[in-house]
Amino acid sequence: MMLHPIKLFPASGDADHMRYKVVFLNNVFTFFGIVSFSMGIIRWRVHPLIGIVDIVFGLIAFALLWALRRNKQRVELISGIALWLCFLQFLTVYFLATGNSTRSGLLLLILAGAFYLKGRQMGYQMLAILLLLVVGNHLTHLFPSEYGHLDILSLCLYLLGQFFIIRNYECLRESQTNHLKALNTDLEALVKQRTEQLAAANTALQVEKENLKTLSSTDFLTGLSNRQHFETVFAEHTHTVGRKISDALILIDIDRFKSINDTHGHVIGDQVIKTVAECIKKNTRLSDIAVRWGGDEMMIYAPRITLAQAAKLAEKIRQQVHARSLPDIGQISISCGVAMLRMGDSLTQLLHRADQALYEAKQAGRNQVAISAAE
Ligand code: GH3
Ligand code: MG
Repeated sequence: MMLHPIKLFPASGDADHMRYKVVFLNNVFTFFGIVSFSMGIIRWRVHPLIGIVDIVFGLIAFALLWALRRNKQRVELISGIALWLCFLQFLTVYFLATGNSTRSGLLLLILAGAFYLKGRQMGYQMLAILLLLVVGNHLTHLFPSEYGHLDILSLCLYLLGQFFIIRNYECLRESQTNHLKALNTDLEALVKQRTEQLAAANTALQVEKENLKTLSSTDFLTGLSNRQHFETVFAEHTHTVGRKISDALILIDIDRFKSINDTHGHVIGDQVIKTVAECIKKNTRLSDIAVRWGGDEMMIYAPRITLAQAAKLAEKIRQQVHARSLPDIGQISISCGVAMLRMGDSLTQLLHRADQALYEAKQAGRNQVAISAAE
């Protein structure tokens, strides 16, 4: 059978700890079984009772070795049984085999095993029981003992020494564990803080990206879509639109805007453009796109709408613009040209028809809506 190196008190995870326990027990059972069995045969002639005890314990050690090989996951139970059997054997040898000088060494081994396999509590319990039994028997002479006062004193000192060594080790391990835990907590807090910072930065970046996207597609003065954005949207829209299209383009131009600019200046001219844009925004649906095409020219691209509805919408906006009276300027007016999208139309073709209608409206005296003659 292969012997594994024993690593006492490993500072590692639960799974590792379990593995070390199994390895440790394997070694102990093998060693214990061989020694106990051989010693039993040797002692047999001198002291048959002790010989039988040794042989029985040797056999038990082999049985436990076999049980451990089959049930590694029950290492806790098996180690418990093993410890108490060792303890029992020690007591048997201690009280029955007088003059045995190796017994105190065996006792110390049991204690080390108890601390390692079963933890501090059971280790201390065994230590206390052993001290009581050894000292108690020495004082009462219940079982014949050849130990002198000095032997008992040195054994007690050994046991107490062991107590302090293990206590020291436990304290050291505890402080190391606490230190590690504190480090871990710090690290976790730092990671959490960094993650939150990263998430916040990411959100800010997303918002910034959205803002930039909106900014790049919006006309600065009016807040309507700009020409470039509309051209892109129109291309995407006509690419996906089905056979049953019914989209209208309403082209809107402010009447005699040049003279407003000339008379009142560009700032007031800008105000007029904004006023018309507001009227347009107020009357568009979510699916419509209101665009500032350039200068004093704006437009509404309205999907899923009839020609009559588009003309009505244009008329409504025209009336609303005309109904407003601006400070210094007074009434203003707009002219509108309406055209419907046809299958296979390019934007230029559609715009051309809307522009022709707008020209008609201007020609007819302005402040009115005209429908493209091609409809
Ligand atoms: P019409 O009734 O035939 O449309 O006559 P109009 O004077 O409005 O003529 P037109 O539409 O060609 O005039 C456009 C003017 O708009 C020319 C330009 O000086 C002015 N303009 C273009 N962009 C801006 C702008 O951003 N702000 C201001 N205030 N004026 C602009
Ligand atoms: Mg104009």
